[in-house]
Amino acid sequence: MGLEHIRNFCVIAHIDHGKSTLADRLLELTGTIEKRKMQNQVLDRMELERERGITIKMKPVRMLYRLGAEHYTLNLIDTPGHIDFSYEVSRALGAVEGAILLVDATQGIEAQTLSVLEMAREQGLVIIPAVNKIDSPLARVRETKREISKLLDCSEEEILAVSGKTGEGVPELLNEVIKRVPPPRQLIGGAAAGWPAFRGLVFDFEYSNHTGVILFVRVFDGRISKDDKLKLFVGKREFRPVGIGIFMPGEVAADTLSAGEIGYVITGAKEPGIAFVGDTVTLARNPLPSLPGFMKPTPVVFASIYPESQDDFVILRRALERLKLSDSSFSAEEEASGLLGKGFRCGFLGVLHLEIVTERLRREFNLQLVVTTPSITFEVLEKSGRRRTVYSPVYFPDQGEIKEVREPWVAVTIIVPADHLGVLMPLFHDHEAVLGETESFGDGRAKLSLSMPLRELMRGFFDRIKSLTSGFASLSYSLADFRTADVVKLEVLVAEEVIPAFSKVIARRRVEEEAEATVERLYKILPRQLFTVKIQAKALGRILASRTLSALRKDVTGYLYGGDITRKMKLWQKQKAGKKRLKARGRVEIPHDVFLKMVQGERR
Ligand code: GDP
Ligand code: MG
Repeated sequence: MGLEHIRNFCVIAHIDHGKSTLADRLLELTGTIEKRKMQNQVLDRMELERERGITIKMKPVRMLYRLGAEHYTLNLIDTPGHIDFSYEVSRALGAVEGAILLVDATQGIEAQTLSVLEMAREQGLVIIPAVNKIDSPLARVRETKREISKLLDCSEEEILAVSGKTGEGVPELLNEVIKRVPPPRQLIGGAAAGWPAFRGLVFDFEYSNHTGVILFVRVFDGRISKDDKLKLFVGKREFRPVGIGIFMPGEVAADTLSAGEIGYVITGAKEPGIAFVGDTVTLARNPLPSLPGFMKPTPVVFASIYPESQDDFVILRRALERLKLSDSSFSAEEEASGLLGKGFRCGFLGVLHLEIVTERLRREFNLQLVVTTPSITFEVLEKSGRRRTVYSPVYFPDQGEIKEVREPWVAVTIIVPADHLGVLMPLFHDHEAVLGETESFGDGRAKLSLSMPLRELMRGFFDRIKSLTSGFASLSYSLADFRTADVVKLEVLVAEEVIPAFSKVIARRRVEEEAEATVERLYKILPRQLFTVKIQAKALGRILASRTLSALRKDVTGYLYGGDITRKMKLWQKQKAGKKRLKARGRVEIPHDVFLKMVQGERR
């Protein structure tokens, strides 16, 4: 089929605006999936996705469609909407020529509508705006169209109106996709490439026990058959594919993959470190230059993961290796903690990413895990001149050794009803947010731009905004830059001994408050010992909070009655000495559950 009959597009929207449901209708309309076999959000295949109603992994699908006398091949990529996966979204956008921008008519434009639109524009995509959920009695179609026309600077007639639920307006939308989205073009002409040649963008990958790593590829130039030897630039590897084919949406083998098409390449490789989202795949014997835009996403949120039972350590290691085969965006490094044994320090793209990975470890590998409170990375310049990246509070140096600390800041966009602005101001202040411009934004709403430390964003910022605005605010953020941080390390001592796993790095201005809270918390849950135990929080070389857990009183003289006071005295002396001995050793058995409560932080 000629390129002029191919259209590659995706659907972008704020989370829950109905992308996956619209994709269902498109699959039905084009007969890709029979109506009787249809499930809701059929492209969300992972159990976790179905349960939570979110898209984690994007799925490409090829649909065949006739419009008038012409037959078209339409490749649709459904994308995840959550900010943690914005790099994946940007890669999906790099694989297509157009995007349907879906806006829920009951909600209007929200923060992530703006961020995904910006990404689509950066890729130079044709945008087809559509108002969704017009069947809902709460739909405000005209107002939403007005907002969109202002945002895109287009006429309201260009905006389609659909219902992913009833299917109304969906055929018209698909016709507009064919009309407005340009057919794909080869990037490099035949002569320049010196055919035969081939070049494709790896926009995602998957792992199967049976066949190993499967690359999802958008072909930009030339053609391959499954007998061609291929090369990956970033993956630094040459291989002959085990198979190639297309998604219908299940995998269907094909003889060739040509320019303009979207399909899969089975590498057969079963070890990690081969597939990277954004990599270029080309012919080994005539490699073309790599495609632009590869960015290795850097983890920003770190947490330690330990098996509850050390017997499972090897299983956990294998499980992490396995997950890495289908998600190259998290990191894992072995570490050991006195009380928890051996585990891993892991880096994630965000807090949701962390939750998804740990949840998959629990479910897919049946592991019982201890996951510590997530923290971020700091760049520390020591007085010695040494510069290091510190990704665990345990390794954060003492105040005396520090010249400067820098930390990641994020740019946050919030859309909120304007009458809620007042209640949010104190919250912004409390989280060190710097308010940039405020714009009024259709229908009495306001768009705010803020910058703030990622550290403060992770201190429950979103949850607090949501609850202060009764859920009416929407937010998105992106990493912005590194800035100087006024932070200190807070250590917890039990019986004069530092418990490294309880250390945190926090804002200097909150150090007293946090010291009190931490000591109080541990005081409440630590069981009493045979001797008195001091619980202390220390920072900046000083003890900032302290409580004493009184000794468990045990009457050692209970069995003696009568007047032999000297014998009683002797026993008391003995007990005292015993206590002293215990104290001198400074060892307090911190029970496992107390330990877990402390390192896992407050669970939301
Ligand atoms: P996504 O996060 O953008 O993929 O959104 P989903 O397709 O998962 O839909 C989010 C929610 O909106 C689900 O509860 C859907 O049932 C609902 N929904 C989606 N499309 C429509 C629609 O056209 N009308 C109505 N009334 N509800 C819809
Ligand atoms: Mg979805």
